[in-house]
Amino acid sequence: MCRSSDSQRHAVVIGGGFSGSFFAAQLAVHTNVPVHISVIEPRDVLGAGVAYSTSDPAHRVNVPAARMTLYPENPADFDTWFCNSGELGADPEALWTDGSAYPRRAAFGRYVAEIIASRSSARTGVSIEHIQDHAVAVEQTAHGYEVERAHGAPLHADIVVLATSHPPPAPPRLVAATLGGDPRLVSNPWDPTALHGIAPEDDVAIIGTGLSMADIVASLDQRGHTGNIIAFSRRGLLPRGHAACQVPFTWFAANDTPDTALALSQLVRRKVAEAAANGVPWQSVFDELRGNGKKIWDRLGTVERRRFLRHLRVFWDSHRYRIAPQIEAVLHRKMRDGTLVVLAASLTHARPGLDKIALGIHPRRKPAAHYAQLLVDRVIITTGPAHGTVVEQIPVLRSLARQGLLQPDPLGLGVLVDGHGQVIATNGIAAVDLFVVGPLAREQYGELMGMPQISAQANDVAMYAASLLREIATTELASRG
Ligand SMILES: Cc1cc2nc3c(=O)[nH]c(=O)nc-3n(C[C@H](O)[C@H](O)[C@H](O)COP(=O)(O)OP(=O)(O)OC[C@H]3O[C@@H](n4cnc5c(N)ncnc54)[C@H](O)[C@@H]3O)c2cc1C
Repeated sequence: MCRSSDSQRHAVVIGGGFSGSFFAAQLAVHTNVPVHISVIEPRDVLGAGVAYSTSDPAHRVNVPAARMTLYPENPADFDTWFCNSGELGADPEALWTDGSAYPRRAAFGRYVAEIIASRSSARTGVSIEHIQDHAVAVEQTAHGYEVERAHGAPLHADIVVLATSHPPPAPPRLVAATLGGDPRLVSNPWDPTALHGIAPEDDVAIIGTGLSMADIVASLDQRGHTGNIIAFSRRGLLPRGHAACQVPFTWFAANDTPDTALALSQLVRRKVAEAAANGVPWQSVFDELRGNGKKIWDRLGTVERRRFLRHLRVFWDSHRYRIAPQIEAVLHRKMRDGTLVVLAASLTHARPGLDKIALGIHPRRKPAAHYAQLLVDRVIITTGPAHGTVVEQIPVLRSLARQGLLQPDPLGLGVLVDGHGQVIATNGIAAVDLFVVGPLAREQYGELMGMPQISAQANDVAMYAASLLREIATTELASRG
């Protein structure tokens, strides 16, 4: 087993997307004992993960660069970097008519990679190492953990940080049963090869109408696709666009936080009407809601959180996740010329034919007679990451669950953790040295998907982990006499 030198503590981060990498960078800042931080990440760079490793020029960040901030004390950090690093010069289309920049997502990945590199060896005794591998299991030992990898020797860890976040979507059962293994089914829309082999005139069905659908349509458009695209989901709600101009609207009162999902939706409706009466766009109401997401989430108990997810999540998602105006313009153009149709419908069957795939759909709130059959060349799944089954799917999480050290959260958002991001074992006790950073901890944090929230959570966990490593170092020193 690989062990670092005795005086150096060892933190192992599993998953080097944005969350895990930013945690590593912040631990390197906060620690005051020597620490070696191994980040296990199969991709060839740290910091990019699913969202920012795309090299597709059609994929843009979905909020203006000025709101992709990592450091609250320097809110324009990414925007300034983007404008001054030559990136804007290479991508002038990033600049929208209102003066906001919506860079390609790969640019944000490069920005994060630069930060990690600058922290990797900035302090004596502190190092960050990218181990390009998959973690396959974590076993608890008498002195921490042993992290097993697909290739290479296991690593000893004083603390382990889980940051595997987004698994690919799970195809609907009907699709998995009949099209599973068919090369015309694209079940991972984030795979760089997802659109390979799609001819310009092919007809495409997309199941899911959120951000990944928008990415796929923009990518196909960029490649000169002219065939028909039908995108459908149960409600057919598209991600909304940004307001023409951003107006701050402060309305949230912490001492008046609603404690039911119904009261929350009534409050938001009232505030949207109030804002509209004052010429303020609804987006500003949602921005304030998002900024106070943790307080609102804390006030709702498990039952109300579940109600929120069952009844309101779909509306929250379509208003909270917005699209870059460049992508919105593509969707609108294609809807106008009829090459993109977005429907509220459910799938009734999927049958692979020799020539085409037949999909049966039943439009929402229409009698059975409105049943329709689509004949398409490709089916692409964009129903969002399958967080509900992540513990079963990801071997490293499964291995911890098998030891009773980790459990899925009761809402199906990821992994059960406490307010420090520490994983709660099946006996209800939080582990001191096993953490989750990033979206898999959403059951505890509520809003934990965009940059400001993830970077704040990763920074908090890094500060906490730094104090824990100091304690471990002190105890070990004392035991040596
Ligand atoms: C397609 C997409 C676009 C987005 N766009 C935006 C945006 O424009 N703006 C915004 O604010 N937010 C956006 N988001 C939100 C996004 O969740 C966060 O921005 C953030 O990138 C999440 O990063 P992460 O590291 O937690 O997760 P991930 O990006 O999922 O990274 C997890 C990493 O873990 C690695 N991994 C998984 N299993 C293992 C294992 N067993 N061993 C080792 N490594 C493993 C994976 O290779 C992956 O790189 C987007 C999300 C997605 C999915």
